[in-house]
Amino acid sequence: MKYDFHLHSALSPCGDSDMTPNNIVGMAYVAGVEVIAITDHNTVGNVRAAQIAGEKLGIKVLAGMEIETAEEVHVLTIYPTLDIARQVGKIVYEHLPSVKNKPEIFGHQYYMNENDEIEGEEEKLLISPTTLSIEDVFNIVKDAGGFAAPAHIDRHSYSVLTNLGFIPEELNAEWIEISYRVDSVKEYMKSRPDLAKYKVLRNSDAHYLKDIAAREFHLPCEIEELFGK
Ligand SMILES: [Zn+2]
Ligand SMILES: [Zn+2]
Repeated sequence: MKYDFHLHSALSPCGDSDMTPNNIVGMAYVAGVEVIAITDHNTVGNVRAAQIAGEKLGIKVLAGMEIETAEEVHVLTIYPTLDIARQVGKIVYEHLPSVKNKPEIFGHQYYMNENDEIEGEEEKLLISPTTLSIEDVFNIVKDAGGFAAPAHIDRHSYSVLTNLGFIPEELNAEWIEISYRVDSVKEYMKSRPDLAKYKVLRNSDAHYLKDIAAREFHLPCEIEELFGK
């Protein structure tokens, strides 16, 4: 099953304004992707619209969120239901500092409906680190029944390996995300034998339509297994 579990909508300030619910699922459809997750920075605000849009094309849209920890590490999270995602989203929002977005610098943060109409704009800057530690984030997400993985660990910014140097054992992490930039996971893993025990997800981390499923990845398990079932 072709998947892409790391996609930013127009609600992420760095996400292109063309990343509307219908454009995202439409692009996934064209690319032959069957299941996607919307993972905006520290919010699940555009997930519902994308789910409704996805239903029309037969694309399954999972509720997700890319949470930024106090250590400025990005954690990719996915949830079994939208309700659970919203509960975690509320906690994350409460731990996001009250810094106002400057759209002219960071970009707009648009809430959209299933018809791609702008319903509002988030005023709080969503790309700030939360006050939650990486351990807090893993605990909150896993207690809620969700999936959590250190995001794009191969990248030089916002990655657990860059910021902490290792993956803390206390997280009990089972999965890691390796970005599309890495050509061969096999070669990459050879250089990091300490990561051999982790299962690997690969995603586009698309902020622009053209980047969705730019490389083809097949889901290495059933969706339910992500949630430990
Ligand atoms: Zn990230
Ligand atoms: Zn991202």
